[in-house]
Amino acid sequence: MNLTGSRVGIVGAGPTGALLAILLRRRGAVVTIYDARADPRSRPGESGRSINLALADRGIHALRQVGVFDAVRGAMVPMRGRMIHDRAGHTALQPYGAHPQEVIYSISRNRLNQVLLEFAQRSPGIEIKFEHRLEAVDFSAGIAHFHTLRGAGAAVAMQPLLACDGAGSRMRRSLHEARLISAQEDDLEHGYKELSIPAAGGGEYPLARESLHVWPRGGYMLIALPNDDGSFTATLFLPNAGAISFAGLTTAAAIGRFMAVNFPDATALMPDLLRDFQSHPTGLIGTVRATPWHYQGMVALLGDAAHAIVPFHGQGMNCCFEDCVDFAACVDRHASWEASFAAFFAMRKANTDAIAAMALQNYAEMRERVADPKFQLQSALSRELQRRDPGRFIPRYSMVMFHHEIPYSIAESRGLVQERLLQDLTRDAATLAEVDMERAQLEIEARLPPIADDLSSVTKL
Ligand code: FAD
Repeated sequence: MNLTGSRVGIVGAGPTGALLAILLRRRGAVVTIYDARADPRSRPGESGRSINLALADRGIHALRQVGVFDAVRGAMVPMRGRMIHDRAGHTALQPYGAHPQEVIYSISRNRLNQVLLEFAQRSPGIEIKFEHRLEAVDFSAGIAHFHTLRGAGAAVAMQPLLACDGAGSRMRRSLHEARLISAQEDDLEHGYKELSIPAAGGGEYPLARESLHVWPRGGYMLIALPNDDGSFTATLFLPNAGAISFAGLTTAAAIGRFMAVNFPDATALMPDLLRDFQSHPTGLIGTVRATPWHYQGMVALLGDAAHAIVPFHGQGMNCCFEDCVDFAACVDRHASWEASFAAFFAMRKANTDAIAAMALQNYAEMRERVADPKFQLQSALSRELQRRDPGRFIPRYSMVMFHHEIPYSIAESRGLVQERLLQDLTRDAATLAEVDMERAQLEIEARLPPIADDLSSVTKL
């Protein structure tokens, strides 16, 4: 499609909406973004919600495409592996990759969003209207109604309107209520609470800097990601209700006791624990599934609005950025909005379903399995198998985090075969030296086709 001069509306100036606007502007579209919030650059970060994120290869690939990557590079802190903390305070690093360059990066969500918005607003063809909340949609008239905080309201023709309005998307719910799509929101029974670990004296990091710290405790966990100023943002994931749950932690004494017993080394680094715990909201997380993501050539859902996932693979935003790149490619190859929307849904749905499933599985891995010696042996073996035969064996985590050219659905299906293989090969082994490597090579060749073969069968747009 030739977009030169075409008017496009976007709902949501979060990471998805901002990146999408830049990509479409580059193709000549004249873009208006509407967002319910005030301009995030004019106010400090939202307390209790200003989390940092893991940025990985898929996200970096997208940021490079629009020339934004260099502007965020300085704010990124590499994380080379998971630093596991046991109850006694002992730590062990589990590397993420088989190669030194295979790292993920911690970055402030607000900072990244602000850089994207600055890039977007620098372009004369992109206008951002803050304090415009999408309230209602008339699909038969093709009009979206926005409530403006400083005025009466605005009616916007959906020619088209691309909805990037996040996990609680008003547009998705409106499409669902009008029976134009089916949509399901599955809340996890666990929520999260953001806590802070300040920098030590002189801006030093109080924990090892280049790691994602994990305190796995079976039914729940604490994690902490480094910020670029020496501090860490910690997140406690816990059941919402039950014996050990957010619902049970209502008094200062109960909170202090729970944290000190379960996470003593982290708690010692949290001078504001009680204030953070009691003033920060308990966040809800869940999985959104919708089919399809569009209505005629009028509306399409992208990012979390289409497929929010739980945060345990650190892929939500990375996946949203990949959406934007794939969406732009669909627009390039198809003659109408309707055809572009349909192609986008066809190519992405299996992949977003796959990462949704893998993200859920990763919760059990992070809060429980990382502490299991068998899991640790299998992780070490998977890196060794990659070293020996990288054309056939790449650990699933690496396929997801370090290989944007491997679609999520292929990472999931190969990951399943590999998991069984690792179980078989380590059944009678306690150390890497006890694994029969000759058998391993034969099994790999028997069970796994070369990755290049799988990639050549990926459906073209
Ligand atoms: P959002 O970021 O939700 O932005 C939506 C925008 O739409 C907002 O600006 C909002 O103001 C606006 N909006 C909403 N409703 C309306 C309306 N009615 N009218 C107008 N505007 C509206 N992802 C990673 O890749 N790595 C991680 O490590 C990671 N960790 C996470 C940890 C937690 C605890 C959580 C909750 C998420 C995490 N994510 C992570 C996921 C990531 O934050 C999301 O995938 C990403 O923010 C989605 O971007 P989005 O632009 O689609 O939606």
